[in-house]
Amino acid sequence: MKTYRDFDRYQKEFPNEEGYFGQYGGAFLPPQLVPVFEDIAASYQEICHSAKFINELRRIRKEFQGRPTPVYHCERLSKHLGKTQIYLKREDLNHTGAHKINHCMGEGLLASFMGKKKIIAETGAGQHGVALATAAAYFGLECDVYMGEVDIAKQHPNVVRMKMLGANVIPVTHGLKTLKEAVDAAFEAYMKEYEDAIYCIGSVVGPHPFPLMVRDFQAVIGYEARDQFYEMTGIKPDTVCACVGGGSNAMGLFQAFLSEPVEIVGVEPLGRGGEIGDHAASMQFGTKGILHGFESMLLQDEKGEPLPVYSIASGLDYPSVGPEHAYLRECGRVQYDSITDEEAMEAFFLLCRYEGIIPAIESSHALAYAIRRARTQDSGSILVNLSGRGDKDIDYIYEKYGTGEQFFK
Ligand SMILES: *Cc1c(COP(=O)(O)O)cnc(C)c1O
Repeated sequence: MKTYRDFDRYQKEFPNEEGYFGQYGGAFLPPQLVPVFEDIAASYQEICHSAKFINELRRIRKEFQGRPTPVYHCERLSKHLGKTQIYLKREDLNHTGAHKINHCMGEGLLASFMGKKKIIAETGAGQHGVALATAAAYFGLECDVYMGEVDIAKQHPNVVRMKMLGANVIPVTHGLKTLKEAVDAAFEAYMKEYEDAIYCIGSVVGPHPFPLMVRDFQAVIGYEARDQFYEMTGIKPDTVCACVGGGSNAMGLFQAFLSEPVEIVGVEPLGRGGEIGDHAASMQFGTKGILHGFESMLLQDEKGEPLPVYSIASGLDYPSVGPEHAYLRECGRVQYDSITDEEAMEAFFLLCRYEGIIPAIESSHALAYAIRRARTQDSGSILVNLSGRGDKDIDYIYEKYGTGEQFFK
């Protein structure tokens, strides 16, 4: 069992050169892509330490994204729940409304520094596609986003956004026509175009060096939040928590707290419950396995095929999780818990009514965990990463839950 005292040199030592966090991570690739990913890793190692890159990224974050995002004390909500104080890191106030822009701008800047002309990606619900299309427009890069036909029909507003931003949305028409097929199609395209293009991943997942790069780009969340919280309160938070889909917003928050005496909790979606196909809690129910070019905790059948997953939050329904999370769980530094659809919806409506903030359904999972804790402990503070705003979710929620009266009886 490792404690915060073991994490002084952690960022320097993890991942290792092959991209492993303990036994998780790596790069499982078709042979012709091995040198391509090695080139990305080597370029990143060189570029990320250059003053030019660091200064440019700082400027973009401040002038384009609107960073630093604030930390906010939820006084009314905390009082309603009891004595525990809930704070939010407001990643919903980023340009485009969520944390994904943090790593998309980093990946776009890296693509420019590497002299690439195009960025290629897949998207499921379209959130990653929109953030990446934004970055592509900013840097003047071409952008091909592969998206399953089923998702294109479901996520119409995001498809329109991507097109308005100048991206090519390429429908994927084989198999189940959703995220898995879109990943395959994006990889196939990348194999033909890697000289001019770079593949951009939407979370701390995929082959090395993506879990490392995306973590580094998202770490700004935690470093800002730690200083802001200290400035507001003069102490450290007792607990920090964030929702975990692939795990990028959580990993971004956690980095700054790994070597601090702070409890860290990742929150997975328990959906409708613990049966196969009802949730996407890969830490709770998964086993070690390989998907999309990396090894981590995976919801899989006996043959190693990914199992169907579900969550009310489309940004959380992924059958695996970033390899760094798998490592941090195994060594005991980070705890993982899960939240059902209903608990997340209650949290969503409480934040609307008590604080005037409409959160993303994904972020509502992290908030629901903080609410559960606030109801069961009688002191302390919890800092929640509010990864995104809920505008994208309100039509669906209004149809299914109305204005949430059932949660206020
Ligand atoms: C995509 C998304 C998530 C899940 O992604 P992570 O990589 O786990 O952070 C969470 N919240 C919002 C608002 C998202 O758009």
